[in-house]
Amino acid sequence: MKQSQLFTKTKKEAPSDEVAKNAQLLIRAGFIHKEMAGVYAYMPLGLRVLENIKKIVREEMNGVGGQELMMTTLQPKEIWEKTDRWDDAKVDNWFKTKLVNGTELGVGLTHEEPIVDAVSNYLGSYKDMPFAVYQIQNKFRNEKRAKSGLLRGREFLMKDMYTFSRDQKQHNEEYEKIVKAYFRVYDRLGLGEITYRTYADGGIFTPRFSDEFQTLSDVGEDKIYVDEKKRVAINDEIFTDENLEKLGLKREDLVEKKGVEVGNTFHLESKYTDALELFYSDEKGEKQSIIMGCYGIGVSRLMGVIAELFADDKGLVWPENIAPFSVHLLNLGEDGEAEKIYAQLLKNGIEVLFDDREAQAGQKFADSDLIGIPYRAVISKKSLAAGGIEVKKRNESESKIMTVEEFLQLLKK
Ligand code: ATP
Ligand code: MG
Repeated sequence: MKQSQLFTKTKKEAPSDEVAKNAQLLIRAGFIHKEMAGVYAYMPLGLRVLENIKKIVREEMNGVGGQELMMTTLQPKEIWEKTDRWDDAKVDNWFKTKLVNGTELGVGLTHEEPIVDAVSNYLGSYKDMPFAVYQIQNKFRNEKRAKSGLLRGREFLMKDMYTFSRDQKQHNEEYEKIVKAYFRVYDRLGLGEITYRTYADGGIFTPRFSDEFQTLSDVGEDKIYVDEKKRVAINDEIFTDENLEKLGLKREDLVEKKGVEVGNTFHLESKYTDALELFYSDEKGEKQSIIMGCYGIGVSRLMGVIAELFADDKGLVWPENIAPFSVHLLNLGEDGEAEKIYAQLLKNGIEVLFDDREAQAGQKFADSDLIGIPYRAVISKKSLAAGGIEVKKRNESESKIMTVEEFLQLLKK
């Protein structure tokens, strides 16, 4: 894409009320627009990143047999009354609304009840299980504080998956398979090494712990204790001697850290299916309870985490897997040659942001650093005299002159 056509522009300053680094940078670089606290719109560059993250999440969820669907944002009150959650005081962050006739509706903050309701049209036999459904969809939560940019939105993008199993054994197999897929997601996003499976509170209806996926960061809101050797952690909220013993963890092996929860998986037992009267019949035709699991990933939160953690003092630094473009091509006054090289890169299937604007070299370099595309390729009189384009990776300081052919080889690697 030609940068002269891109309607967003970079800014020197972020809005004065924006205190989170991820949002400051993303706003300045033109990736997101702040509607209000905790509510951000995605501009073209930002949407490209978000879509790239979604693609990775989708591939991994499909890889473990997940079937994608899309539930609704507006939800009927009745199904939540059956599980006693409509008036549950613990659910204090729910946006609710009303029809013209006064009928109350919920605005989607999670989807256990609606999913069970939808699935009940089809599920009845032991032969139907196990299966997993998921969606990638905006959630709405009336969060008390929304000062962390994309890390805590009042409207945010979540992947939520739900599994249905005939017994605990089948459920455990599904659950562990999905946990592995989660790590493939974090690995592909460049977060694998700093993300820990973290034991956390499982909720009142199960004796089991839930698993949070915590990415280490000083901006994290959660206090966790990490066992680096075992590569697991335990959340402060369940940090008791009794639990340590249950989990086989020793105080002396644990280091206190801060984490951002980038995912969370739960054993739901048969709380929702029983309450909504969804059962199955086994081989003998006997009625049995269905075991559920639910599995969330904070898709927009991940974008914020990556923006925040990988940035340097000049701007954003995107990993190649999710960058809005692979190459930022900067034309410094060599229009004819630059257009040719742009066309050649496109022909080879490379995603290029082409800075064809009439602007000072200094401005183009500063914008390129702020936007954070993995490869910067400069075409100038000097580079052409030296034999090609001057290529520099965003996270390195050395640049190198290479021919377009050599550059293409490098990109293909
Ligand atoms: P938190 O403890 O951070 O409030 P949660 O435990 O309420 O999150 P879940 O219901 O488990 O969140 O949601 C699944 C995932 O969605 C979380 O692991 C997190 O990555 C993401 N998420 C939750 N709330 C938000 C939010 N307000 N903004 C952005 N992402 C969120
Ligand atoms: Mg959670």
